[in-house]
Amino acid sequence: MCGIVGYVGQEQAAPILLDGLSKLEYRGYDSAGVCVFDEGVLKVAKAKGRLQALIDLTDGGKALHGCVGIGHTRWATHGAPSDTNSHPHMADSGKIAVVHNGIIENYLELKELLMARGKKFHSETDTEVVANLIEFYYDMGCDFKDAVQKAVSRVEGSYALGVLCRDYPDTIIGVKKDSPLIFGYGQGCNFIASDVPAILKYTRDVVYLNDGDLLVMDKDSVHFYDQHGEHIQKQPEHVSWELSAAEKGGYAHFMLKEIHEQPKAVRDTIHPRIKDGRVVLDDIQLPASYLEHLKRIYIVACGSAYYVGIHGKYIIENLCQVPVEPVLASEFRYADPVLDDTTLVVIISQSGETADTLAALREAKRRGARTLAIVNVVGSSIAKTADDVLYTWAGPEIAVATTKAFSTQLSVMYLLALYIAQDLRTLPQARYDQLLTDLLALPDKIERVIAPETIQQIQYYASQYFNNHDVFFIGRHLDSATCLEGSLKLKEIAYIHSEAYAAGELKHGPISLIENGTLVVATATNPKLFDKTMSNVKEVKARGADVLGITIEDLGGEIAKTMDSAILIPKTELLYQPSLSVVVLQTFAYYVALMRGCDVDKPRNLAKSVTVE
Ligand code: GLU
Repeated sequence: MCGIVGYVGQEQAAPILLDGLSKLEYRGYDSAGVCVFDEGVLKVAKAKGRLQALIDLTDGGKALHGCVGIGHTRWATHGAPSDTNSHPHMADSGKIAVVHNGIIENYLELKELLMARGKKFHSETDTEVVANLIEFYYDMGCDFKDAVQKAVSRVEGSYALGVLCRDYPDTIIGVKKDSPLIFGYGQGCNFIASDVPAILKYTRDVVYLNDGDLLVMDKDSVHFYDQHGEHIQKQPEHVSWELSAAEKGGYAHFMLKEIHEQPKAVRDTIHPRIKDGRVVLDDIQLPASYLEHLKRIYIVACGSAYYVGIHGKYIIENLCQVPVEPVLASEFRYADPVLDDTTLVVIISQSGETADTLAALREAKRRGARTLAIVNVVGSSIAKTADDVLYTWAGPEIAVATTKAFSTQLSVMYLLALYIAQDLRTLPQARYDQLLTDLLALPDKIERVIAPETIQQIQYYASQYFNNHDVFFIGRHLDSATCLEGSLKLKEIAYIHSEAYAAGELKHGPISLIENGTLVVATATNPKLFDKTMSNVKEVKARGADVLGITIEDLGGEIAKTMDSAILIPKTELLYQPSLSVVVLQTFAYYVALMRGCDVDKPRNLAKSVTVE
């Protein structure tokens, strides 16, 4: 996600902060800002857009005087990118300034509480709540550190915070939970940052903070505390990476880094939206009266997002009993879709700028349908145009081939289906409760898929098959949808011709293409359909295919009867199983591409955000 830098020392802080932020640009952002103690006054400069806008605004930092400050590049999650929503945020009485990376899940509740106590808010962000909460405790008589500690104990969600207090002009406080924050030892100065590149020019001795850790630093010293306020010792680590490796957090490629970010991204997308045993989508307004009359849902998207839509058909039809039709945006806009106020058009786009999808959205609105967008970029054109928006909160995705955006879109699909089912009462309570429990446990299961043993196994199979010219992905039910994404990944980054088929379709044509050594990847995670898929596997094996299987751990013994090569994934609710198998397929494509020497993060002929028709 975004970037935080804090500096306290003897040099002018603003140019150092701006330089640090420039080293965090790779993380993606939509606006930037700094706050510096200028002759004892907290001075803030911030601007929407590229960092250059802030550099111009502050004359490269020269316009701000002072040796203590915090800086931020923002990736909006709450409130569109704008000057006002940019960080740092000041508390209402101007005593506290905060930069924040993450999401405050209970910000609405805290905001109400603070407003009732007279605090005024000036932005749409969740972050401003934290600044005011700290100020609230400070005004109650806490010292700076205790005020921060008390405030974060009230906050639910993820945060890395850099905090300044008007009455402590030599001090910066940093604290984190579920968002990264490091401390860096300088010479006569100290730093905090979201990531090593920001401070690599000044120090290689850093401390990685753990969740709940809080630090208080001035130019000569730093003190670390645990979540109970107890003093703790932290050992510095010496960074030996160079800048380019550091940007990728030690991973060889952004794609690999983003594959590994999926448990967190999915958790960030799901967890804030499940409260008290219900799916709560605070951000949208689909009234029960509208849902009762809902006759059809179209899911309109391109590429991987369209494949999320195909998953969505299985999921929503199963849970809500409403017919769902996934349609490619490039077709939808020129077709004659039958739409009226009983139709919901769900639009999916990572960037929120996909030209075909945006045009389809406009067409849907013109024809009188209600529209709901699922996007990752706050304030994007699609987010602004749709009637309702559900954000995926995946954080910026840098690799061209999507991984974590896909996974979080799929997570939103589960949430949306459960939300509609809840309103339409299409599920028995026990089933509904179980679905919620399994959804909350899903990020931990994704974590297990990217455990070193599974990754090594995938690497091994990639080394066996990377020279294949033709690959077929087969599966039934939801597995057939996941195969589409696995096949696309292989095409996109490894440049291998591949096809995805519903396993039952093979015999209706494509089986004629199977010959000695053709690779068939069979995904079979549905116990009820397992034997049927295995029959299809036998058909292709009989024609000389090499088969790589993906199934759940429970079926490990069964799959071994049909094939030698199989990757086992944890079992979860059937409808959520794609969230686990897709990670295997992404990782397989990644290692195949690597072994073929492809430029994984920037595949040929492709762009991250397709803004042309
Ligand atoms: N949730 C905060 C906002 O929308 C912080 C986002 C970030 O991590 O940059 O302002």
